[in-house]
Amino acid sequence: MTIQENVDLQPYNTFGIKAHAKYFTILRSVGEVPKLLASHIFKNENHLILGGGSNLLFTKDFDGLVVKIEFKGIEVVQESEDEVTLKVGAGENWHAFVMHCVERNWGGVENLSLIPGTVGAAPMQNIGAYGVEIKKIISTVEAFEISTGEPKVFTNAACNFGYRESIFKQHAKDKYLISSITLTLTKKNHHFVTTYGAIKEILKERGVQELSVKQISDAVIHIRKEKLPDPTQIGNAGSFFKNPSIEAELHDSLIKLYPSMPAYTAVDAQIKVPAAWLIEQCGWKGKTFDNIGVHQHQALVIVNYGGGEGEKIWQLAMKIRDSVKEKFGILLQPEVNIIR
Ligand code: NAP
Repeated sequence: MTIQENVDLQPYNTFGIKAHAKYFTILRSVGEVPKLLASHIFKNENHLILGGGSNLLFTKDFDGLVVKIEFKGIEVVQESEDEVTLKVGAGENWHAFVMHCVERNWGGVENLSLIPGTVGAAPMQNIGAYGVEIKKIISTVEAFEISTGEPKVFTNAACNFGYRESIFKQHAKDKYLISSITLTLTKKNHHFVTTYGAIKEILKERGVQELSVKQISDAVIHIRKEKLPDPTQIGNAGSFFKNPSIEAELHDSLIKLYPSMPAYTAVDAQIKVPAAWLIEQCGWKGKTFDNIGVHQHQALVIVNYGGGEGEKIWQLAMKIRDSVKEKFGILLQPEVNIIR
């Protein structure tokens, strides 16, 4: 492990924002964790643990140590005729891992195809898409407690998973360094989820008679590629805001004013409303401002066409948030971590 000084973070964030870290290091094995935690720089500086850099926005230089986690490995820890349990390094690319499973016809993560980021970041926000959340398949999360260096295993229940939430975003925030996750996938009798309209349509269009892990993964990849900009071509961090859940009362009054507003039942008698729809109604979709803007196919994605500044993107996001609040009375919350 070597700690470098004044490192450009542009290659390490999918928004492609130019910002410098005072200190930067890459961890390639869990064996290096004790050395990192004991280092003078780690103990005395702010630190930021980084996976794929796909869910954050640097608004200025980072005055501290950025630690990029690159623990690799997909290990079969248990296997039967029906199921396989895998331990996966936090630094594995999430989509590459999904493809590894799809190629072997292991079911459970196919709806989560093409989500950017690393495996270690997945439990932090309980990634989910098209009706499947990672909490359904995760058995444990392995981590190191930062203050003591002690290894710790979180059971599924201990992760306290919620909608795009977990203990790692709540009271365990910044207290643990996730090293791997363990999850169980099906080898046969898969539990396919095809309830989301877009998936149904693609499968129908393609004349799919018999569902398979690969067919569903291909459908999800198709949908996402059509709507979402590829971060290797146009800087972005996926959905900038969370999809809000609102009280039934507010929903009732809004639906009278906007009868075409989409809405879905959520937990606790709340109603989920697509943030993209709200933003589009405020006229932001496809708008550009110098070298940043709102994506033309998905209003929930803010883009950096090249050379955009993090602070300018944040200001644009706040204008979007304010306009949605004014028109609909709904306060959008960023899903992206804003590094200030
Ligand atoms: P979308 O599919 O247009 O959905 C927008 C909102 O409507 C979401 O809150 C979604 O709920 C809900 N929704 C749509 N169809 C539904 C149905 N049949 N039943 C229940 N709820 C439904 O959204 P999108 O922005 O293009 O994203 C596609 C998928 O990727 C969504 O599932 C979204 O949540 C997911 N996503 C996840 C992350 C993440 O894990 N951090 C980031 C971006 C997008 P759900 O959110 O419960 O699906």
